[in-house]
Amino acid sequence: MIIGIIGSGAMGAGIAQVVATAGHTVRLLDQNAQALQRAGSAMQASLTRLAEKGKLTTEAAAATFARLHLTQDVTTFGDCELVLEAIVEDLAVKQQLFREVEMLVSDTCILASNTSSLSIASIAAACRKPERFIGIHFFNPAPIMQLVEVIPAVQTRAGLAEEVRDLVQSWGKLPVLTRDTPGFIVNRVARPFYGEAIRILEEGIADLATIDWAMTELGGFRMGPFALMDFIGHDVNYRVTESVFASFFYDPRFKPSFTQKRLFEAGYYGRKSGRGFYSYA
Ligand code: NAD
Repeated sequence: MIIGIIGSGAMGAGIAQVVATAGHTVRLLDQNAQALQRAGSAMQASLTRLAEKGKLTTEAAAATFARLHLTQDVTTFGDCELVLEAIVEDLAVKQQLFREVEMLVSDTCILASNTSSLSIASIAAACRKPERFIGIHFFNPAPIMQLVEVIPAVQTRAGLAEEVRDLVQSWGKLPVLTRDTPGFIVNRVARPFYGEAIRILEEGIADLATIDWAMTELGGFRMGPFALMDFIGHDVNYRVTESVFASFFYDPRFKPSFTQKRLFEAGYYGRKSGRGFYSYA
């Protein structure tokens, strides 16, 4: 199967590695040449590390990398059987992208979004054939995280969700089918997790290192809420919170915080910018 991935940032690059490792030819596109080069180098480095650890033969690593084709030209997507986007979390931009992609691909090509918080139905609505549209939501870092949410929209044709679930499973992942509701499963559960942790901080109940420590050492979480928000990036995480809040008709359970909004506005995105709740300088 030839798979096209659009957006070669944190998610697109990782997803490209997953599907190339599973044996698919991958066309990875980004409008930003540097992001594309970074993704290629990161994947090569990651495959080399796996080969050095003995988890992959050198030949398999080289063959996997050879299946990756970096491009800035969307007209090369004509032979793709699945196109998955992982671009900026903006409905209008994603809709416009699929209008263009649909002009190039065959009628049987599956179209998918990795959106964290937008409705799959609203992206599908921009398509000429919305019945072949579906959500395939990976978690960061995609090569490591096992869970993938598969989200049919109301327009998605019967049977496609199960086909996609089986395909994702063949990539060594653990897919779950979920309904097209804001945040799906994980990002919905995660909003109050982050929001309540920030409220505990704002109310002076404990400092952030103590809250993180309590959640990891005592609560059994792999990362505390503040370390996790810094890892995801406040640009991504804050936008998702705003989007889930609006999508639930401004239900106060999902209300964003000014503390995180200010980090977002200041460009203190977390690990990626060197500063967030913690400093990484
Ligand atoms: P990112 O900023 O790391 O990467 C996005 C990439 O898309 C950039 O390289 C950018 O140049 C490119 N891009 C933007 N608009 C484009 C366009 N019109 N055409 C081609 N390329 C374009 O973002 P990310 O963290 O990888 O997130 C991407 C998507 O995945 C978002 O929808 C996000 O909500 C979702 N997501 C993110 C995470 C996460 O933890 N970061 C997890 C799951 C899902």
